[in-house]
Amino acid sequence: MNDSTIPRGNAILQSYGTTIFTTMSALATELGAVNLGQGFPDDNGPEDVRKVAAEALLHDSNQYPSMRGTPALRAAVAEHDKRFYGLDIDPADGVLVTSGATEALAACILALTNPGDEVIVIEPLYDSYVPMIRRAGAVPKFVRLAPPHWKLDAETLAKAVTPQTRAILFNTPHNPTGAVLSRLELELIADLLRAHPHITAICDEVYEHLLFDGIIHVPLMTLPGMARRVLKIGSAGKSFSLTGWKVGYVSGDAALIDLLAKAHQFLTFTTPPNLQAGVAYGLAKDDSYFQQFIATLQAKRNLLTTALSDIGFHVLPCAGTYFLTTSYSRFADLPANNFAEKLAREAKVATIPYDPFYADPDGAPPPRLIRFCFAKQDASLNQAVTNLRKALRFE
Ligand code: PMP
Ligand code: GLN
Repeated sequence: MNDSTIPRGNAILQSYGTTIFTTMSALATELGAVNLGQGFPDDNGPEDVRKVAAEALLHDSNQYPSMRGTPALRAAVAEHDKRFYGLDIDPADGVLVTSGATEALAACILALTNPGDEVIVIEPLYDSYVPMIRRAGAVPKFVRLAPPHWKLDAETLAKAVTPQTRAILFNTPHNPTGAVLSRLELELIADLLRAHPHITAICDEVYEHLLFDGIIHVPLMTLPGMARRVLKIGSAGKSFSLTGWKVGYVSGDAALIDLLAKAHQFLTFTTPPNLQAGVAYGLAKDDSYFQQFIATLQAKRNLLTTALSDIGFHVLPCAGTYFLTTSYSRFADLPANNFAEKLAREAKVATIPYDPFYADPDGAPPPRLIRFCFAKQDASLNQAVTNLRKALRFE
């Protein structure tokens, strides 16, 4: 094909490169580096959950399941939301199962916005939000949080609202910062929704089971008056360390879930039934599974925080998620992309530079920050620490 016959594709999507997660994982593979970049555990997830899915694959139906999710998984999501948060979700019409939280996010954006509508997003942000908002013809309005505490402030939030605002999309516990929105900050968002009945909150809560130091996850949906105003997104990938499964679930009021189903039916329509069976089983696991999960990840957070601080990184507080944010200003003045590449090549440790978590053209990302993922086996974390000590000349 010569140049004139190559289709140009969609201008918005084609303006983006390959995601930083894929880029850094590919670099880690190429270099044989320890991958503390992309957020996925390097073990195989709970065997009992995988067994249920394997049995279902062999013995149950492998044809299209119900469009909104298998009755068993929808019931399990509703029961989970009751058990952990006291929410009253109707399994018949208040749950939608999606192919990962990624699809749920896309479906929410496509279902709630018309071209020209505005969606408030909170920076730093997960990389799929802005491309999908723009592809839907909507306009992102940025509210920025500042390191090291990443606090949401009422004034900045209020300024982002216009008559065109249709949704606010945010993530707590927060990737990449590891911050968790406090009840006070959630109240600010709830106040905004109360003052503006035309705005819906899309709550990306994929790390809802990964909060440390006894902090409790508070879904916005549990605040007074919020039950009918919020779509709450979860991910089996994160809650069961099975990121390749891509099973997500959205809970909400029936009217909002109806809107959402109109997008989902044309995006993926359904999600593999055997994986839904595994996730339904997983969500019903007893409290000890979820407690142990937190304890294990908290120990990994502590291990990496201590080691990186000792090496000379400035490690920012982390209350939840898989991720530690660190400043490398002690070592270099390079832009984050260059420093992350140097670290991968010279220390054989892959990380994620912070810049791709920013999309507002009106503000440069804060300098010299990179993200480490600690959801890895202790052997991987220890190997990374050894490599970093050597490369940064501590041994
Ligand atoms: N939101 C956030 C904040 C994430 O970190 C991720 C990454 N897993 C997702 C959504 C996407 O989740 P899933 O893998 O279930 O599509
Ligand atoms: N959520 C993961 C992260 O932040 C990556 C998922 C992906 O690669 N799309 O690292």
